[in-house]
Amino acid sequence: MTENANLALNLDATAARVPDTVALVLDGRTITYAEFAQAARAVAGWMRSRGVGVGDRVALMLPNVPQFAIIYYAAMRLGAVVVPMNPLFKEREIRYYLEDSGASMLWCFPSDEAQHAVEGTAAELVPVDPAGLSGQLGEPVDEVAHREAADTAVILYTSGTTGRPKGAELTYANLQTNSALVIDTLLHLESDDVIMGCLPLFHVFGMTCGLNTAVASGSTLTLLPRFDPVKALEIIERDEVTIFLGVPTMYGAMLNSAAELDPKPDLSRLRLAVSGGASLPVELLRRFESDFDCTLLEGYGLSETSPVASFNHPDGIRKAGSIGTPVRGVEMKLANPDGNDVPDGEIGEIWIRGEGLMKGYWNRPDATADAITPEGWFRSGDLARRDEDGLYYIVDRQKDMIVRGGMNVYPREIEEVLYEHPSVAEVAVVGRPDERLGEEIAAHVVLREGAQVTAQELIAFVKEQVAPYKYPREVMLLDALPKGATGKILKRELRRS
Ligand code: AMP
Repeated sequence: MTENANLALNLDATAARVPDTVALVLDGRTITYAEFAQAARAVAGWMRSRGVGVGDRVALMLPNVPQFAIIYYAAMRLGAVVVPMNPLFKEREIRYYLEDSGASMLWCFPSDEAQHAVEGTAAELVPVDPAGLSGQLGEPVDEVAHREAADTAVILYTSGTTGRPKGAELTYANLQTNSALVIDTLLHLESDDVIMGCLPLFHVFGMTCGLNTAVASGSTLTLLPRFDPVKALEIIERDEVTIFLGVPTMYGAMLNSAAELDPKPDLSRLRLAVSGGASLPVELLRRFESDFDCTLLEGYGLSETSPVASFNHPDGIRKAGSIGTPVRGVEMKLANPDGNDVPDGEIGEIWIRGEGLMKGYWNRPDATADAITPEGWFRSGDLARRDEDGLYYIVDRQKDMIVRGGMNVYPREIEEVLYEHPSVAEVAVVGRPDERLGEEIAAHVVLREGAQVTAQELIAFVKEQVAPYKYPREVMLLDALPKGATGKILKRELRRS
């Protein structure tokens, strides 16, 4: 028989090695690895008594609370497939996920939305008490179900480039290799590290780089259910956080909040910050490194690649504005629309192949065949170029590119310029339909607290620095930008407005 690839073995190994190390923190309350493993065994026992077994889908719809981690590892123990869901989902969305995945159980905080959503589906609703899991403890399950490396561990829904959300099937091998490389080549994690858990655990970035790496390395994950920059700064100080994982908007918000705080928070234990999920504006990187005296490394990946595909390696060359080089076990190339490689310096679509790449989209052979070539290359939908040192630079998402009067404009380039303006806190540039030109360039800007600048002044600022066809003809000043679950800016909503 092949070796058991089940992720639940990682929790057992860590609980045996460092039983008294704190695994999870929420609001200052702690759970050790011994307690975490014991709870996962007991919840697995309860789940098994309700008929859950190998291959069954178990939907998990919770914010970042310890119960998420316990139920996740309990389901894994039985060999069930975890289907993480956003706790902000409404009835329609919940029902779609349950039906599409064929889940037999939905774990979530009690709500009418969830109650109505399960009606008529195969899923049993398991209401989770915000105070704990005492209602769902059974006879502890000692054994860990045998799973092959190529078996599906998680079905992670993602919009991909088009259409309704599709479930990316991530295998045990995908998750194991991705968290192993994050631990030993990127973060050099040890059991005295404390990771900030403010990225949602139901999203691939928080799930792999936060939860799974913490468990495999025996480090501590301190949870923040809803991101708030002031709270995040308080937690970094209180829990002596050493590693921060975030999306660019989080770094921007923390910088702006820290500038206002008096006394300044003590962030001296922070040794490494990682940004991913969206382009990190160069100006933000520089400000973070100088104000917080902490290295900030940018990486790149997708739900379909479990997620980390490339990274600015801490021990290798790093360049601001770059997503670095492909990680161990992953190949990356840039292709033109015919699938041929583009030369260095030119723009092409990122194609990815290797260990992190999903098995395919759950029950969607056509979508899988569209996304993955017969040679095993996954088309990411992201446009990039590569420099002479082999580092990649995201130019933009293919679908975010603006075509103005036949000329291609990459919003990111314009956003970088606006971020250099001292009054600008956040910005998103999108195309809006225009009868004459096809698309016109519109910038949505949030100003820094107390800043006084007009839209016209911002337009003039960009106009001075880029070719005439690229500057925004319209600048909208907003109080906030619409954001998704991880904090990524939702450009599609801005296009609609
Ligand atoms: P998700 O599947 O939700 O993780 O989203 C994946 C998408 O996030 C990618 O296709 C990229 O468009 C975007 N993304 C991730 N990391 C970066 C990055 N470092 N720079 C620019 N875009 C990124």
